[in-house]
Amino acid sequence: MLVGIAKLAAESERLESKRKVEYFELPARTILNRTKPGMPFRWSINPYRGCEFGCRYCYARYTHEFMELDAREFEDKIYAKAHTAELLRRELRKVAPDDGIAIGTATDPYQPAERRFGRTRAILEVFSHQRGRHLSITTKSDLVTRDLALLAEIKRSNALSVNMTITTLHTELARAIEVRAPRAERPLAAVAKLADAGISVGVFAHPVMPLITGWLERLDRLAAAAKKAGASYFGGGLLFLMPSAQKVFFPFLEERFPHLVKRYKERFEKNAYLRGPYREMIRDRVRTIRQRHGLSSSPADYQPELWLGEQLELFAS
Ligand code: SF4
Repeated sequence: MLVGIAKLAAESERLESKRKVEYFELPARTILNRTKPGMPFRWSINPYRGCEFGCRYCYARYTHEFMELDAREFEDKIYAKAHTAELLRRELRKVAPDDGIAIGTATDPYQPAERRFGRTRAILEVFSHQRGRHLSITTKSDLVTRDLALLAEIKRSNALSVNMTITTLHTELARAIEVRAPRAERPLAAVAKLADAGISVGVFAHPVMPLITGWLERLDRLAAAAKKAGASYFGGGLLFLMPSAQKVFFPFLEERFPHLVKRYKERFEKNAYLRGPYREMIRDRVRTIRQRHGLSSSPADYQPELWLGEQLELFAS
């Protein structure tokens, strides 16, 4: 247990890092990506490729390999998609109003690049002129509250929910695993602000990491903090480790949790997804915790009053 200056140092917010990050503008032909059948949303939007937060487990590292880059460069070479608003305006014409659209499924839409390049904000501006859309945003960053007024505007005429991802309240552990992501107090403060503004907000403890963050007591404390902040739903999906993510996660385990290396390799080297009783146990654990804290599993969908008059018009557009 850290005390005194050691504790203060561990909890300090990073002011600046000397690590070299490069930003690029990526020409994009589309901004809306159709998801595979069975997903809870039909379309996804990721305004950036690469993510500076650099979570060791990040499954999206493979998207850098598509660009002939090393998965380890995922947090150092960040690509902002070009003309996001124009593309979205055009592509939304082909999207049915009740199709779910999820922003931030592969990279964080409020990662540091967003402060400078504003691609997520440009997308939200487009949605602020839409009616009857089903939109969700997933982020680890309290930068989402910069757009509070815009989100409130979107919410007036669309179903909107914000999923804040927090894997652990343990500051030191979070810093080791999610190297540059905001510590839990900040997304929790964002939950409170969003809830105060009447925006449907929940906390996802994704990914639950076996024998690291998956302990009952840790998840329970996280759910309690989420509820206290104003979250209405809570979830926790189990870690999966694709080969590109293993390249980063296994060296991290060797450094921080050497006693877990053998077990993780045995389970994940053959299959990125964990099967069997542990999976069921985590599912039951999260369900029990939800019930204990009066949290639901997903945002309650709702019908803003504005839809009633405008839905038919929307279908015709
Ligand atoms: S915040 Fe999300 S997208 Fe970014 S590195 Fe972490 S897991 Fe990947």
